[in-house]
Amino acid sequence: MGKASRDKRDIYYRKAKEEGWRARSAFKLLQIDEEFNIFEGVKRVVDLCAAPGSWSQVLSRKLYLPAKLASDAKDENLPLIVAIDLQPMAPIEGVIQVQGDITNARTAEVVIRHFDGCKADLVVCDGAPDVTGLHDMDEFVQSQLILAGLTIVTHVLKEGGKFIAKIFRGKDTSLLYCQLKLFFSVVTFAKPKSSRNSSIEAFAVCENYSPPGGFNPADLHRLLEKVGSPSGIVDDTDCCSGSLEGPNKVYIPFLACGDLSGYDSDRSYPLPKVAGGTYQSLDPVQPPIAPPYKRALELKKGLQ
Ligand code: SAM
Repeated sequence: MGKASRDKRDIYYRKAKEEGWRARSAFKLLQIDEEFNIFEGVKRVVDLCAAPGSWSQVLSRKLYLPAKLASDAKDENLPLIVAIDLQPMAPIEGVIQVQGDITNARTAEVVIRHFDGCKADLVVCDGAPDVTGLHDMDEFVQSQLILAGLTIVTHVLKEGGKFIAKIFRGKDTSLLYCQLKLFFSVVTFAKPKSSRNSSIEAFAVCENYSPPGGFNPADLHRLLEKVGSPSGIVDDTDCCSGSLEGPNKVYIPFLACGDLSGYDSDRSYPLPKVAGGTYQSLDPVQPPIAPPYKRALELKKGLQ
């Protein structure tokens, strides 16, 4: 698909370039914030699976830059934003970058060290594996990323804090909901307007972190297994078991968010005409600096 054609078919892709965002995903976080006010009172944030960095840009623009502009801002009062990804990303003002795998305990340790004993107010995770197109497989791998995110949450999030995580809707959605509900008093699954209807993606918005009394992060996986395992056997007490009926049945709050009269991500919009009558497509704001496909392109060039 050519750039102009994509600009026409994907309004959020075009808007991202016009507004200086590295990816259209920025709008998803902004629309979640419109609905849930997730940045209120936030001073410390972890951005998991952050590359190429549009969510980190949102965090920088919403939290770091306004604080820096405030005349009495001292360094120790500035918000702390730590971003992690497997891939390196170009620098963003006010964002500390860690390159690593969030499923690896050592990455979690590095993040925790940055907080120097303090706790985060917000953890966001837009992680996505390389999608295979096999829904069950993609949903399973995605749920493993969320659980890795939850592991980090149990170490760095303060009580009352929030966790926003990308999910893939599928047959284990209610299991995931119950697992998250063990730790947060309010869990809502949200679909921002900038996320295509055709995509199984949605976001878990988890509010008021309140782990069970006496909870030890080392017991996380044992606790989650009590609720059930993805696509596996669930025990009789499983809160998400299909056998629960009537008033005991679990209903998952699911909310569309973003200005509903705003742009529809599944629609094509005409391209704006400029003087001279031709439309000039903008270049991406910041192409990935070391994308996984770079080596493949180099090999392909070598063959030509
Ligand atoms: N939120 C980002 C933004 O706004 O620019 C987009 C994130 S992109 C959809 C998903 C990211 O997840 C990719 O950059 C990928 O490298 C990262 N990722 C996938 N698995 C990961 C893992 N195990 N550890 C760290 N990052 C991971």
